[in-house]
Order: sequence, then C-alpha cells, then structure tokens
Amino acid sequence: EVSAIPVLSRKKRNLLGLVVVMHDITQLKKLEQMRKDFVANVSHELRTPITSIKGFAETLIDGAKDDPDSLNMFLNIILEESNRIQSLVQDLLDLSKIEQNTTLPKERISLTEIGGYAINAVLNSAEKKDIHIINQIENDVFAYGDKDKITQVLINLLSNAISYSSSSSEVILSIKDEGDSQVISVQDKGLGIEKHEMKRIFERFYRVDKARSRDSGGTGLGLSITKHIVEAHHGQINVESTVGEGSTFTVRLFNA
Ligand code: ADP
Repeated sequence: EVSAIPVLSRKKRNLLGLVVVMHDITQLKKLEQMRKDFVANVSHELRTPITSIKGFAETLIDGAKDDPDSLNMFLNIILEESNRIQSLVQDLLDLSKIEQNTTLPKERISLTEIGGYAINAVLNSAEKKDIHIINQIENDVFAYGDKDKITQVLINLLSNAISYSSSSSEVILSIKDEGDSQVISVQDKGLGIEKHEMKRIFERFYRVDKARSRDSGGTGLGLSITKHIVEAHHGQINVESTVGEGSTFTVRLFNA
C-alpha cells in the first residue's frame, strides 16, 4: 500500500512536496486473517458441544429424567461433550504456551523410556480397537529436550495412528539413534492421507474428515501442537502416506 502525505509550508499555503510512505501490508493482512479464522474456529468448536449440553440438560429437566434409560444416556452425552470442551481448552492452552515460549528447557532425556511410557498411555485405546502396537524401540537412545513435550509428541502421533486405523490393525513405534540425530517414527496401516492434504494437516483445526476426527475425540489441534514442539526443539517432522495403505510420521531430533 502506498500513501502520500502532503508537506505544506509553515503558513500552510504552499505545497512543498509529498512524502511517499510504502507499507507492506500483505503479511499483516495475512496474520490478521489467520487470527480471525482462529477465533472463528475456536468459537465454532466450543459452540457445538455447548449447544448439545444445553439441549440434553433441558430435555432432562422437561421430564426425560424420569425415564432411567434416557437419564443415563443423556448424562453420558453431557459428560462426553464436557470432556470435548476440556480437551479443546487444554489443547488451546498448550498451543498458546508453546507459541509464546519458543526456547524450551532442555535436559538429557531417555527416548527409550519416553517411548515405553507413551505406548502404555495409549494401550487402552489401542486395545479397544484390537490394534497391536509393535515396539521397535532401541535401548539407550538419548536426546536433549523437554521431557513432557516430547512425551506429548509421541502420544499425539500414536493416538492419531490408532484413531485413523481400522480395527485389528497394527501400529509400529520405532526409536533409533543415528549418531548425530535421533529418529522417532510412528507407522500405521490405516486410512492414509491424500497428497494435497499432507501439508495442511499440520495447520490449526485442519481435519481431513471432521466427523471421524470428532468421533475419535480429536480437536484438530494435535498435529499443530506436535509440529510446534518439534520445531521448538529445532527438529524436523515429516509424513509419508499412501491412501488405503497407511501413514508414517517421522520426527528427527538433532544433537547440537
Ligand atoms: P485431530 O484431533 O483431528 O486428530 P490432528 O491435528 O492430530 O487433529 O490431525 C489433523 C488431521 O490429520 C486429522 O483430522 C486427520 O484427518 C489427519 N491425520 C492425522 N494423523 C493421521 C494418520 N495417522 N492417518 C491418517 N490421517 C491422519
């Protein structure tokens, strides 16, 4: 955008010249649009479960509470929808913290130990779908990083691998040391991701299939948080995928 400011003489009668000011507002406009989209997305994601909670509570008050089956079913829905709001708020807090604080406290952490912990954390949801998690974690793999955040990365990737696989499938977690870097990979034999969606899945609130993501308790923020954490560690995250065959998410952390 170019704007011209007139420069007048002291007595403001004669125009002495023009000062031309050039602003590059495309970047600012983009950021502003992203902020607006973000607020719109958050509002939408919150409104849906709140509307549902209100609706079921009203129905209960209007008489459904006298029927034990309805009472039980509606209370369970209210609880589920409250859990959804809680996860969303938790993810938003995580995202905002990680965005503000790009230098993380780093200590020597055992990826071997974190890998085992993350498998345990998702075991229940894997068992529910009869998904077998194959542990290919090398012994004594160490990295420098924030233990809680790297644990979150592993849990996020494993949870997605489980959510986007069909029943009786398998998920492989491999962790290895390659000398100057450590490589974590989570491989599933699930739905896979179309090529044009691969970049977008790391965006906040982007989901390939909204309904499926919601059903699995997803907020659409997991991969965005994961990518931020990896980048705050100066690491890399990649995805390789074939529709109908499955996906592999690879995280590489560097020593230096
Ligand atoms: P969500 O909470 O929806 O899982 P994420 O940010 O973790 O949000 O992932 C964004 C989208 O990327 C998901 O909605 C899903 O469409 C896709 N996705 C993520 N992981 C996988 C995977 N392992 N296989 C197939 N699709 C995936």
